[in-house]
Amino acid sequence: STGVARVAVVTGGNKGIGFEVCRQLASGGITVVLTAQDETRGGEAVERLKALGLSGVVFHRLEITDASGAAALAGFLKARFGKLNILVNNAAVCGVEYGQEFDINEEKFAGLDFHQRVEWMLKNAREPIDSAKNTVQTNYYGTKHVIEALLPLLQASSEGRIVNVSSNYGLLRHIGNEEVRQELNDVDNLTQGRLDELLEKFIKDFEAGSLEMHGWPTKFSAYKVSKAAMNAYSRILARRHPELRVNCAHPGFVKTDMSMGFGVLTPEEGACNLAKVALLPGGGPTGAYFAQGEEAPF
Ligand code: NDP
Repeated sequence: STGVARVAVVTGGNKGIGFEVCRQLASGGITVVLTAQDETRGGEAVERLKALGLSGVVFHRLEITDASGAAALAGFLKARFGKLNILVNNAAVCGVEYGQEFDINEEKFAGLDFHQRVEWMLKNAREPIDSAKNTVQTNYYGTKHVIEALLPLLQASSEGRIVNVSSNYGLLRHIGNEEVRQELNDVDNLTQGRLDELLEKFIKDFEAGSLEMHGWPTKFSAYKVSKAAMNAYSRILARRHPELRVNCAHPGFVKTDMSMGFGVLTPEEGACNLAKVALLPGGGPTGAYFAQGEEAPF
């Protein structure tokens, strides 16, 4: 009802950009349910926010690939608040390993400029098949589970919002296969069943070592494909649910654990680009993509 603070759920809220999104939304008077897959890390994050005077933050555990966990979160929200206004799907993995621990402040990087450092990361990033599978399961299917479980609550609120945290790596230009690229962009005809088929095909091609031959990306491949699929799903969802506001948002290249501390933006700046989309005035765009706060093409 009116007068009661809006309620937001943020996934992967214990650190990085997700933690900052929680802080910024809570600072704006929104009741924030900070979720994390690890109870201890999540609880500590909530304590850090409470220490900043943000009392409207509560913790709930959520590992996003666990559909029953997402249903339990829906039950909690219903019982505790009776509603949900904003869902920020932030949790994700990048699916690459570097074969060695490294710190971007090490001496060997000191002489390298930004592009040389990015090149070093691209050259050294390895993507085992299990990581690729896990990346698709987490970034695409996990996000979808959470949305499906929380959709009834979002539909019951006026202009319920979903912000799917995307990446410029999820843009269609990374899909070299023209047919697949067009299918992903043809959201009037694309179905979730077809998306599943495309992802199965991707994993098959990955296992067969034929990513390049079939026009899939070869670096950060599962990350790019999973985010592109999530973008397409968001657009399908936006069309099917005009009562909602479903958008994708790229935070920018941010210094977090995922980027090995390497980005150019602070987590505060990255999160600000997402909070802006979560808090767009009523009647705003849906089914859109935002790059660093500005609407841009998929
Ligand atoms: P981090 O690695 O710092 O944080 C990722 C968060 O997701 C952590 O809280 C992690 O939890 C959580 N997480 C991972 N898997 C799961 C899971 N299965 N269930 C629940 N939570 C999970 O990454 P960032 O903060 O950098 O990334 C946040 C978002 O921003 C991601 O969607 C990412 O793709 C996107 N992004 C980031 C960019 C960057 O430059 N950093 C650029 C473009 C997009 P835990 O701590 O327990 O592992």
